[in-house]
Amino acid sequence: MPIPIENIGTEGDQVLCAEQRIRSTSLPHEWPGVHFVDSDEVAAVTRVAQAASPFRFYGPDLQEETKKLEAEFAAYVGRKYALGVNSGTAALQIALASLGVGPGCEVILPGYFWVATVGAVVRSGAIPVLVDSDETWSLDPQKVEEKITSRTKVIITVHMGGVIGRVNELVAIAKKHGICLLEDCAQAVGASQHGVKAGSFGDIAIYSFQLNKHMTSGEGGMIVADNKTLYDRCMAVHDLGYPRNSEGRLITNEPESQMWGIGSRMSELTAAFARPQLKKLDRICAAMRGAKNVIRKAISPIDGLSLRTVLDPQGDAGSFLIVTCPTRAISLDFIKALHQEGIRGEQGGLYPIHMDDWGLHIYYNIPSLVNKRGTCPGVKSVWELAENRHSDQSYEKGACPRLDDMLDRSIIMSIASALADSDISDIVSAFTKAADKILGGKFD
Ligand SMILES: *Cc1c(COP(=O)(O)O)cnc(C)c1O
Repeated sequence: MPIPIENIGTEGDQVLCAEQRIRSTSLPHEWPGVHFVDSDEVAAVTRVAQAASPFRFYGPDLQEETKKLEAEFAAYVGRKYALGVNSGTAALQIALASLGVGPGCEVILPGYFWVATVGAVVRSGAIPVLVDSDETWSLDPQKVEEKITSRTKVIITVHMGGVIGRVNELVAIAKKHGICLLEDCAQAVGASQHGVKAGSFGDIAIYSFQLNKHMTSGEGGMIVADNKTLYDRCMAVHDLGYPRNSEGRLITNEPESQMWGIGSRMSELTAAFARPQLKKLDRICAAMRGAKNVIRKAISPIDGLSLRTVLDPQGDAGSFLIVTCPTRAISLDFIKALHQEGIRGEQGGLYPIHMDDWGLHIYYNIPSLVNKRGTCPGVKSVWELAENRHSDQSYEKGACPRLDDMLDRSIIMSIASALADSDISDIVSAFTKAADKILGGKFD
């Protein structure tokens, strides 16, 4: 429900008086899949509850929701195998394990991600190697190549905010050097680039169905791959470290398939909720993309504002808008002006914030990374392991200069899947008015 904007605190920013400001009520919350929940999800979850079979591998009246979701998801992305898990974080750890990442390995990744991405690398015992971003806000392929060493095992590309960067160049570099490419598609389910879906470029890809993602089951995730060995390893690691037979029971007499598991199976309730969400995914993304592209088109002529490079706007999932100002001071004034116009969200909404406030999405905001903490107090950190001693990485601000500069001057705003045309035109008007006020004259 929209609430009066006077009631929405934005750290001391005052709104203009009612006659002067553009909006008087909050914009809709961002959780994209939530706006689309209806009787389909209710019926699906009820079906599992009535069957009293919430476990995926066996039970009194197994509905095989997880198995069906996996088949539907694999078909949607265009990969051979899909494995449902209980979170994107777990999916990352499982995927890295399946690729053989451990102490002595280096994993290349960008500095703009989510804490779970780098956390999975550290948990695996490998060294995260940060590489700077380009104007797509994704990995700069040329800089990736410069950072490859004999220890580089995997490149992780993170499709942040529903947009895919120069992924084909990354594929070529990975191939050339015989290393693997993992796509973190937690923020990109439903996105594509020139008709190719996010998650079908690399050797393996992961997704999240947490509440903020494009489709949701509250918690949940997916891993996709075409390689049967990778899939089998993920299957074992996501469970108890052992494969299962056709009755869903563990197979313990095949030494070559024995690993250690992390207990991240998907519940049948989760899968039941996620299946109708997957069916709605293209509609959800079309709503966000449509709104975002209208806003981008309207504000792109404003001198002084620059927009993130989106290589294929038709494949943008549309969930986030990033706008870069000429200086940090201007970006801060700009956000303030937008807030004053009433461009505010309900509690917890991102309407809009400075990139600095984007918390654990940015490498230098993660204290455990900057300070190279161990996985538990009293345990040697991965940076102290003998196998990793060669690595001398810094994670302090300055490690990714281009990204740092973009972050310093940029605003991020979520694009809800439920924006009305009037909401979209309010956003455009507020940007135009703020630009007149703050950039007026200076950048003509
Ligand atoms: C949300 C997210 C994850 C983790 O997914 P969870 O399901 O919340 O564990 C990983 N990577 C990125 C880029 C994310 O945005």
